Amino acid sequence: MRLNNKIAIITGAGRGIGEAISIRLAKEGTDIVVCDIDFDNAERTTEKIKTLGRQPLTIKIDVSKSKDVWEMVNLTMKKFGRIDILVNNAGIAIVKPIVEFEEEEWDKVIDVDLKGVFLCSKAVAKIMINQKSGKIINISSSSGKMGTEFFANYAAAKFGVIGFTQGLAKELAPYKITVNAVCPGIIGTKMWDYADEELSKRLGLPKGEAFKKQIQNIPLSRSGTPEDVAGIVAFLVSPEADYMTGQAINVTGGMVMH
Ligand code: NAD
Repeated sequence: MRLNNKIAIITGAGRGIGEAISIRLAKEGTDIVVCDIDFDNAERTTEKIKTLGRQPLTIKIDVSKSKDVWEMVNLTMKKFGRIDILVNNAGIAIVKPIVEFEEEEWDKVIDVDLKGVFLCSKAVAKIMINQKSGKIINISSSSGKMGTEFFANYAAAKFGVIGFTQGLAKELAPYKITVNAVCPGIIGTKMWDYADEELSKRLGLPKGEAFKKQIQNIPLSRSGTPEDVAGIVAFLVSPEADYMTGQAINVTGGMVMH
């Protein structure tokens, strides 16, 4: 086990990519703080982690609320006394043409996808600076490298996550804390079910067709799985990646190459 007895906070761990990251890191020997706004889903992930023999802590949290974030860090410190890994994975998307996009919708996505990354990183950085060690992973997106129609607001948030990652990587390097981003492409989760439905509607296609159309642009000819992303996160938080910081790694089947 590469990550024996490390303590990891994973946001958005109740389903999809966050759930897969939680399970993968638990298999590598990590105790997991399972954080999600949906407590029932978080508890389901927690039960799976228990069966792997690791200690989970389940926390209901809205990453865009500063009070919730401080509570998450306080509860983690009370139970485990340290934080080795933070994975900022919680995210939402609203898929719409800009002329229909409401100001409140714009704020909501930026609050969860970008401000949430700032709030969680700030709270955890205080602990990691004292420890003089830590690994922060921010889940950005292929939309953080390349804008696509009806995803402009999501792209704004995810480009922002990469810029934040680079700045923070330089700032925290003196404390031996690494900060990297992961940029998944088309990953089969509930988020993509929603995106497919909205995109198909906008493009006048039957449900499922927008997803298929996107896959035609993927050199490896398939969508990704949450486990594909989890494997890269497991590498980035392992000692093998100690000399990597400020990077934004594509997990897109070759759809994005820069
Ligand atoms: P998902 O919708 O299946 O899961 C997201 C999880 O985040 C859910 O459990 C949800 O309850 C939780 N969440 C939402 N808002 C929250 C909040 N305010 N506070 C705490 N938890 C909250 O989505 P997913 O596909 O697993 O996406 C995970 C991450 O990967 C997101 O950041 C997403 O933007 C990113 N991503 C996904 C894809 C994809 O194709 N699925 C591609 C690129 C990037």
